[in-house]
Amino acid sequence: MTTEAIAPAGPAMAPADGEVARLAAAVSELEGRPVSALRTLTEPATEIMRRAEELGEADLVQRCRLLVICVMMREGQIEDGGRQAHQILAWAQQQGSSYLLARAHREVSLFYRLVGDVSSAHTHALQGLSCLPEDAELGIRARHLLTLAIALDENGHSADGDRRFAESLDIAMALADGELIAQVLNNMAYTAFERDDEPLALQYCRQMREVAAEQDFPLSAGQLDTIARVEMMSGDYDRAAVTLAPVLEPGSRVAGNEGDALATCLLTMAETLRLGHRYAEAQVALDAGAAMAEERNLRLIRAQAREGQAALYADTGRYREAYEEHRVFYAEATALHSAQREARAHALQAAYDATEARRVSEELRELAHRDALTGLYNRRYVDERLPALLAEAATRRTPISLAIVDLDHFKRINDTLSHNTGDTVLRQIGQLLAEAAIGRTIAARLGGEEFLLIFPDADAREAQLRCEELRLKVRGHDWSAVTHGLPVTTSIGVTTATDGPHAVSDLLERADQHLYTAKRGGRDRVVGA
Ligand code: GH3
Ligand code: MG
Ligand code: MG
Repeated sequence: MTTEAIAPAGPAMAPADGEVARLAAAVSELEGRPVSALRTLTEPATEIMRRAEELGEADLVQRCRLLVICVMMREGQIEDGGRQAHQILAWAQQQGSSYLLARAHREVSLFYRLVGDVSSAHTHALQGLSCLPEDAELGIRARHLLTLAIALDENGHSADGDRRFAESLDIAMALADGELIAQVLNNMAYTAFERDDEPLALQYCRQMREVAAEQDFPLSAGQLDTIARVEMMSGDYDRAAVTLAPVLEPGSRVAGNEGDALATCLLTMAETLRLGHRYAEAQVALDAGAAMAEERNLRLIRAQAREGQAALYADTGRYREAYEEHRVFYAEATALHSAQREARAHALQAAYDATEARRVSEELRELAHRDALTGLYNRRYVDERLPALLAEAATRRTPISLAIVDLDHFKRINDTLSHNTGDTVLRQIGQLLAEAAIGRTIAARLGGEEFLLIFPDADAREAQLRCEELRLKVRGHDWSAVTHGLPVTTSIGVTTATDGPHAVSDLLERADQHLYTAKRGGRDRVVGA
């Protein structure tokens, strides 16, 4: 590597560099915070985002944005969050930023789970894990494994899901990260609950309580809700009510991390009280849950509260009201479904728009690398690509050859026939060169009637042979319709880099000298070392 290629580390750069590292560390810390700290993310993330924008640190900006989105979606702003997560995903794909890509896939997976598209949730969860760099923090890896485990389970791949749950739990245990352990166990317990496996669900709940006691942190509302649900499996309604009681105490220490966790607890409380025939208390809990759903605009909970109310009416013999309430529940649930479908459609549209934008920009970049007349690569592409190819060859200790191909007496064709005819000849030469560029060979037009062939991996002998083939092909081509008898031939100068690093300019100069020798020697020939 040349010294110019190393970024200057002058004193002027130092403070900004230090600041960027500091900001990156701060973002990592935010990304690693437990779910119980969800509410603490938005403010610092927004602040760092502003500073990263000023410093032109685009990757950091997107990581902060993703943190804000993560909170938004868990607080119920699903459609907007999903749209933005898709945009970040497209950006990360374009930049090839694998860590950000992994994180964006995970958020997009969450979006699809929330709108009920479990299959897309699975696809993105899988990508979210496979894009995660090897050296990513273990706590982050555990969370990505957890997301995948849930998605696998929801798609009916229970065994694979269990394996991912176990991997996630192993990491959390190795880190002795109590809150993470509880988060994984909570999902394992809920999965066991859904599979009707009461003993296993109870075991996970017990473990959850143990780790919370050992490390002295309160279980979250969502976790207590899971435990209550599991206790209700065997008809232990009073016990479930006791489990949930701390959530509903005024000034409770219990965090309702996800937007609807507290309201969900209230409904579970109402249900367990109803099933335990404590109807008056059940009504109080239900009213509180419905009010919270109303206040926070939680439509699913609102509908579920209606369902709970219908059940409560029915259990207390008020059948007419039960029927009416159930009708309203049904209408609301149906409306909710179509709203979910709409959110999914909008996010898909956003994803499509983002992909489309990427495709267009890739096409533009491709166009910028092509010569308009022949369609071959252009000089700019050679300037960008050749140094990397030479470096690669030097590292791998493989040869690489270059050939400059120049048309003979081309001026004569232009002068005797026409400039148009000259163009036609150049286009056909372009075609012949493209055909000769098999495998990794690159054919480019350097300018005028001068072309370059790059033969990665080819030693001097092979390059010489292939140039000779090309020379014969050009002179043997049927030019009669174009040049009416004027011959079209080429002179070619070849050179090969075998022994370690070479500068692009040195190699091109050597090829050019050989070309000059070929011209002086009578043209229509190949000259190498
Ligand atoms: P030599 O065998 O020594 O290479 O002779 P030459 O006539 O091929 O070389 P010279 O460099 O004297 O002339 C090249 C000519 O190519 C001059 C220029 O008008 C013509 N040319 C360059 N670009 C184009 C182009 O895009 N289209 C056409 N038709 N002609 C071009
Ligand atoms: Mg020429
Ligand atoms: Mg020339």
